[in-house]
Amino acid sequence: MASLSLKHIFKVYDGGVKAVNDFCMDIDDKEFIVFVGPSGCGKSTTLRMIAGLEEITAGELRIDNEIVNDFEPKDRNIAMVFQNYALYPHMSVYENMAFSLRTIHMPNDQIHEKVMEAAEILGITEYLERKPKALSGGQRQRVALGRAIVRQPKVFLLDEPLSNLDAKLRAAMRAEISRLHEKLGTTFIYVTHDQVEAMTMGSRIVVMKDGYVQQIDTPINLYKYPDNMFVAGFIGTPQMNFFDGTVTKTGQDVQFTLDCGTTVDMKYIQADKIPVKYMDGAHKIVFGIRPDDVRVYNKNNYNDGSWAAAKAVVSVVEVLGGETLIYANLNLDTPDAQSGAIIIKANPDTEVRRGDIIDIEISRRKFHVFDKDTEKSIRRRIPEENVILASIAGGTLSFEAESFRLPAAVQCADSKNAEISMPVSALTLGEGNGHAKVQWIETIEGKTLYFLKVGSLTLFSLEQGEARFAVGDDVQFDIDFTQMAIESLGVTPLSLTNTLDGIFTKVKDKSRKFYHFYMNVGEAKLVPTDSICEKVFACKGNKIFHTPLEYIVEAKYLTVAPHTEGAENVLVGKVLEILDYGRAKYAVIDVYGQKLIAAYNGNVGETVDVTVPVEAVTIKDKSIDIIIV
Ligand code: ADP
Repeated sequence: MASLSLKHIFKVYDGGVKAVNDFCMDIDDKEFIVFVGPSGCGKSTTLRMIAGLEEITAGELRIDNEIVNDFEPKDRNIAMVFQNYALYPHMSVYENMAFSLRTIHMPNDQIHEKVMEAAEILGITEYLERKPKALSGGQRQRVALGRAIVRQPKVFLLDEPLSNLDAKLRAAMRAEISRLHEKLGTTFIYVTHDQVEAMTMGSRIVVMKDGYVQQIDTPINLYKYPDNMFVAGFIGTPQMNFFDGTVTKTGQDVQFTLDCGTTVDMKYIQADKIPVKYMDGAHKIVFGIRPDDVRVYNKNNYNDGSWAAAKAVVSVVEVLGGETLIYANLNLDTPDAQSGAIIIKANPDTEVRRGDIIDIEISRRKFHVFDKDTEKSIRRRIPEENVILASIAGGTLSFEAESFRLPAAVQCADSKNAEISMPVSALTLGEGNGHAKVQWIETIEGKTLYFLKVGSLTLFSLEQGEARFAVGDDVQFDIDFTQMAIESLGVTPLSLTNTLDGIFTKVKDKSRKFYHFYMNVGEAKLVPTDSICEKVFACKGNKIFHTPLEYIVEAKYLTVAPHTEGAENVLVGKVLEILDYGRAKYAVIDVYGQKLIAAYNGNVGETVDVTVPVEAVTIKDKSIDIIIV
């Protein structure tokens, strides 16, 4: 049994190379996790930190809920299998496998039992007397696995274990390692740069690039719902086709205009997860389509409206037997131009030749759209925002047939055509002034995403838990105005994340035998817990006293009360402003020259105590921008 938790893990090598940045993940018992990404992205460093072979610069690593940052590798109950096997050449296979058990003085009969059991699992019983040099690469890798198995570790770490093997053997060993994982019922963490290995073996995959986690998900979700162009391009072979272009919405029709000259038409309902602000014919987008989601036209193809017609000119045909790959170009005039290049995975009996102009069909369901600048998906499985064009007059917001009175805290000028945006969680269902019809519902990982028809628009609402309404229901909705932005009118969401500059100090106790430690913000001294002190010193040692820090805390953890003398763990401040959001009121409070926001309904000018639960505070090292606690 082993679960792991990696919380804000950073690795900064001497010399300042930030190899791993803010790695956060919970791994359940018995999972098969794969870290994948190009060379140098930080996979091995992360694995080595888990193994204890590399010091963790900042962050918290737990195995079975116990913090193990300072545990020696041998005390972590982890086994690691490397690419180069690391077998002892002068020992037999049997002795190689028995070695680690001998070092812990296990009785011989038990060692024999464990070695034989592992040899049986791996099918190497007949080689036990051989030396490693008399074995093939695959057999050596099995011995390396066997050496790990006999120790019955809680966690198996495998660092590119198959990269020294030829392609055929690798495929066989992949299946073998998956079977081994099932048989042992242990947590596996596997590092590879090969996306096929990742897709075939992982129960979940962590895609990394340049030291940052790009996405963590199941193989099928990474394939179907990549968060960005990097993941979209890295996962899946042949690679996803990408086309630069723009998108326009006219009434209920949407058209993608690709730079290579092709247009892809569809109904708004097929593209309604894309925020309408991108559908202005000006925003630069990238249209992505996998080779599997394009097909060669055939009059017998069934098409219920989910396929858009296009033409392409063929440049190369690869007949692979089970399927045929067609390398073609949407740009019929310049078939070698990169901008229109497309790969199509076609039926094996498709007969096309170089130079042919073919009719193709592009899926209107399984396409991807990315923001050209940020490379992030803008057709997300769960849309991030609702974007609405609305008019504002005399403090009332109107769109379609709906109108909402703006709360006093939202002050803005009148406007006929203002672009309003808010996260999908800011649109709440059940009560409120808005009226919508539930058009569609998706259940995604314990959450419910409602597609709401509001006049001609589709808006989204995201709720935790199971659906409370059904398709076809008429529902009322409300807007949480603290989360609304109107860029053109200078309305920004209320930031409920407070960031305060501060330092960490020590004061000698009167007895002069020990120190008291403090988290200082201005004149306030917050008292850290022992666990906070431990983490701070583990990460920074005595340098912590000379490090500029940021104390970050969400408003929801703060409580505000009229000032009293002598309260502990409080910041004393003065109310500068009360923000009235209707459903809730917030105070902007000056604390020692810095601004803080917390829910409070008091008076401007009042002196207040803001109680800070220190466990809820994130501590960031400002000098190198890493989270310490
Ligand atoms: P991967 O396993 O994904 O190929 P690594 O974790 O080995 O990547 O390396 C991540 C980054 O850290 C790379 O830029 C690499 O050059 C750097 N790096 C790795 N080990 C060290 C080290 N001992 N000292 C300094 N930099 C290192």
